[in-house]
Amino acid sequence: MTSDIPAPHHTVGVRALCEFTAKAGDLDHRFTPTPTARQGVAGHGVVARRRPPGYLAEVSVAGEHGGLRVRGRADGYDPASQRVDEVKTHRGPLDKMPSNHRALHWAQAKVYGWLLCNRFELDAIEVALVYFDISSQSETVVSERHTAHGLRAFFEAQCERFLSWSRQEAAHAGARAESLRALRFPHAGFRAGQRSLAEAVYRAAVARRCLVAQAPTGIGKTVATLFALLKAWPGQSFDKLYFLTAKGSGRTVALDALAQLRSTQPAPALRILELVARISACEHPDKACHGDACPLARGFYDRLPAARRQAIEASVLDREALRTIALEHRICPYYLGQEMVLWADVVVGDFNHYFDINAFLPAIAATHEWRIAVLVDEAHNLLERGRAMYSATLLRSTVQTLRRSAPAALRRPLDRLSRRWRDLLRDRSDACGNHSAAPDRFAATLRDVCAAITDHLAEQPEQADANLLAFHFEALHFLRLVELLDDHSIVDTTVEPAPVGRRRRTPDLALNLRNLVPAPHLRARFAAADACVLFSATLTPFSFHADMLGLPKTSAYLDVDSPFAPDQLTVRIADRLSTRYRDRESSLTAIVDVMAQQVAAAPGNYLAFFSSFEYLEQAIERLSERHAGIAVWAQSRGMTAIERDSFLAHFTEGSSGIAFAVLGGSFAEGIDLPGRRLVGAFVATLGLPPPSAVNETLRVLLEATFGAGYAYTYLYPGIQKVIQAAGRVIRSEHDRGVVYLLDERFARAEVRRLLPRWWSVERIAVSSARLDDAPTSSTINARQLSAPR
Ligand code: SF4
Repeated sequence: MTSDIPAPHHTVGVRALCEFTAKAGDLDHRFTPTPTARQGVAGHGVVARRRPPGYLAEVSVAGEHGGLRVRGRADGYDPASQRVDEVKTHRGPLDKMPSNHRALHWAQAKVYGWLLCNRFELDAIEVALVYFDISSQSETVVSERHTAHGLRAFFEAQCERFLSWSRQEAAHAGARAESLRALRFPHAGFRAGQRSLAEAVYRAAVARRCLVAQAPTGIGKTVATLFALLKAWPGQSFDKLYFLTAKGSGRTVALDALAQLRSTQPAPALRILELVARISACEHPDKACHGDACPLARGFYDRLPAARRQAIEASVLDREALRTIALEHRICPYYLGQEMVLWADVVVGDFNHYFDINAFLPAIAATHEWRIAVLVDEAHNLLERGRAMYSATLLRSTVQTLRRSAPAALRRPLDRLSRRWRDLLRDRSDACGNHSAAPDRFAATLRDVCAAITDHLAEQPEQADANLLAFHFEALHFLRLVELLDDHSIVDTTVEPAPVGRRRRTPDLALNLRNLVPAPHLRARFAAADACVLFSATLTPFSFHADMLGLPKTSAYLDVDSPFAPDQLTVRIADRLSTRYRDRESSLTAIVDVMAQQVAAAPGNYLAFFSSFEYLEQAIERLSERHAGIAVWAQSRGMTAIERDSFLAHFTEGSSGIAFAVLGGSFAEGIDLPGRRLVGAFVATLGLPPPSAVNETLRVLLEATFGAGYAYTYLYPGIQKVIQAAGRVIRSEHDRGVVYLLDERFARAEVRRLLPRWWSVERIAVSSARLDDAPTSSTINARQLSAPR
């Protein structure tokens, strides 16, 4: 049977439709005191509870025009008075709201008005904008009476403006699905381990499970995981694929892998977008994001449609391409990037873009009810990054500085906050500065300060001083975390070095809210993904990552066999040496002698990893005293990108020497020195985090929660760093090398179990005492000191 009514070719939410058709004028991210999502939901609840019996909240509605289906949930409808409420929560005076925001609200309200007229067969309806002030809990209602006829005409006009775009999107979705079904792997064959990884990713996507995959470096994890999820896409009807990385270099690797996939025939119809942080994309870092300050915010929405059209045609919007298009149309590249998330297929971004408390990617996915697939690259970094995202620090010096320049309206609240710092010192419950709970009086005063800043900025937006804004956002972030405070986080006070530039160098005081276990925060993000794959070369034990990150109970795990043969890497454990703090002085000579003898036996470039800069400097000094002929170069604190490049430039095919670096630092993972550029590594530390008040609190918490306090706090994070660092040596089937693990604890069964299965480990007898007695000789069997095979 056929019908004259065209089947809907595209479905769009009311909000998305109106944002596309009714947004005009300036971008305005001047501080608008936007309530949090939680406050917004609570505000909607208050409004609904105030309405009379019979009031309908959250009414699902849908309508069609020209093959476009529009759906959404009206905030509230009162059948008795035939009024639809579009509720907007806010803070501060309404007359400061930009007129284009108000116009957008009316567009949404009128579309809901028509959809309700349609559903309840009404001839007319009262359309109301209800502005709910979350500070005063008061409502401001503006309403208009509209006929169904007029609202229908408005609705159809919006749909018409969206239709040609919508048809183009429907055509793209069809082409994308067809091309992904035909997608071919970009290489002649899979490498060892690559196929099993790709198959596991595909199976997990089909089963809608989270997959945690440990796979060695060098097998092509990025292209394998992307290929598998893209193949699964048509069957699973994904809307977006988010590829998340811990570092900028990871984004480059992902974009390269996508370029390989796009080079296959037939080429997949994919739109790819790279997201970077605002601080990297902003063209006017000294300005605020509104039309009165930044030229790229002025008229943003008026020029957006043309920029968007051009951006869609580009297919690959990496950072440079996006910037070029944005500047051509005189709009902000950062906010154009956010807009293009709506229309991209694959978004390559940072962990923060998805896991942070205010992350944009999960929020937009939830708003549009997308089905998303998520790839988390170098996932072993997510624990530390997750902790950082859900931690916050406030410095007393920031408040003191602000007090001096603050406008009169803010001085008294800031004074009160200064006094609270003194209370904090008194309230400490123990010597290390831990507070038994969030300091309530401090938080209450901080809330007052934030409210005062909010009011001030709403009244005097032109006085949006950068320092004041920065403090305001820091304070709001801190308060949000206080609201979420539970056993997973602690609050403490620490004494910090005095701020640079102060005449009186009195130490500073910091109030820290430290997340210890990010699982409670990250769990919902994993649950929101239709498919999620975490991968890395170091993810064992899986239970550790599952517990600490909050992975779903149904997660699948895969440990891909290494493609490397045991004879490619000689691993030697010096099982009579100790690098414990108390033993460092006595073992240092033996350590540098082992290093020197290995370089003499097999000249080439080596990396030597130590636990701290101080230890590293001592080792260089001792090596130089005893083996002056060996070339050395070293990592230093806070190296710039140029300095890091120059450090790596020492590793040439023909050079020989030892590069000293800190375990867990920028040369301990993510660097690639294939072939003769790196032939070995010395690791003179287990990488255990130093015992501290915070780590001991963590240990107790993890013992109570998971029964694995020491392992989860110290051992697993430490050995993970060791394996990452040692993993620099073998990067391909052609590499040969040697790794020295210079501490007797590496020989213990519980540590050996954590080392990669393919490593063939041998013990060497080298001890501090014997080497100290005979400084130029060694107890190492000469046969063991051979060139890397
Ligand atoms: S260029 Fe910078 S200041 Fe201007 S709107 Fe973009 S992010 Fe804001």
